[in-house]
Amino acid sequence: MPELPEVETVRRGLSPHLEGKSIVNVDIRRPDLRFPFAKDLDKRLTGLKIRTIDRRGKYLLIRLDDDSILLNSLGMSGRWTMTGEGIAFTPGTFAHGAVIGTGDGPHDHFVLNIEGGIRATYTDARRFGYIHFIESDVNEEEDRFLSVLGPEPMSQDFDATVLAKNLKNRSSPIKNTLLDQSVVAGLGNIYVNEVLNRTGISPRRISSTLVRKNGSPTSRLELLVEQIQEVLSDAIEAGGSTLQDFRGVSGEDDLGWFPVNFRVYGREGLSCVRDDCSGIVQRIVQANRSTFFCPSCQR
Ligand SMILES: [Zn+2]
Repeated sequence: MPELPEVETVRRGLSPHLEGKSIVNVDIRRPDLRFPFAKDLDKRLTGLKIRTIDRRGKYLLIRLDDDSILLNSLGMSGRWTMTGEGIAFTPGTFAHGAVIGTGDGPHDHFVLNIEGGIRATYTDARRFGYIHFIESDVNEEEDRFLSVLGPEPMSQDFDATVLAKNLKNRSSPIKNTLLDQSVVAGLGNIYVNEVLNRTGISPRRISSTLVRKNGSPTSRLELLVEQIQEVLSDAIEAGGSTLQDFRGVSGEDDLGWFPVNFRVYGREGLSCVRDDCSGIVQRIVQANRSTFFCPSCQR
């Protein structure tokens, strides 16, 4: 499932081709994805100009010049393809191996035709993704998807003190807490597994034990925040730097991932990567999600 770095990579791929351009027309081929499309969405978008493409947590926000917003969740398998004069690519390496959405495929559900002959196609075979329309007179902070999000992990709104405040009264395992988008926006299963391993924190540790009695963060919590930011920025960098290599790929229908070497994710039964640890990576299930960790060095 695309997490923050993957969505950010998609954003960076789309924005230079779409920002400042007008929508000539829109082709919506189903009444719904995971949720129904807004009524008459195609007509309402026609003629509007795309102001900017932003990201919030795992959402892409396509901001239009009448102050309305298209919010897109990529779900499990959603992807965007750009085609037009001299371009044909799918931004985001997690779509590695996926057939390019030409705009005419069976899973090409939503097509934006943009001035200058550019076509942006949203393809989603499993349809867990969605495109939600935020009307221009709606305050986005009150939108049902955006209002529940916690701070952006890479922003100044997020630090160990902020996180400590949130963890102070939580008795849930830290793994589950970090997946809660109201605590911090954008982290998913893979990066939470990795971050906890890098920090030496057990995924089963009760969240509140990472906070001191006086409510301030423990040094391990400070390290956790540092690692969250480092892992995410490394992954964004990896996505950005490999973007070119994945232009025009086609082939098998697997969901690849960033070419990041995971320390624990998917490594059940293998030796811990730490030189000074002889532990074996274990897999457990927490809140219906796989957790991979080293019981020897994660406490
Ligand atoms: Zn270990």
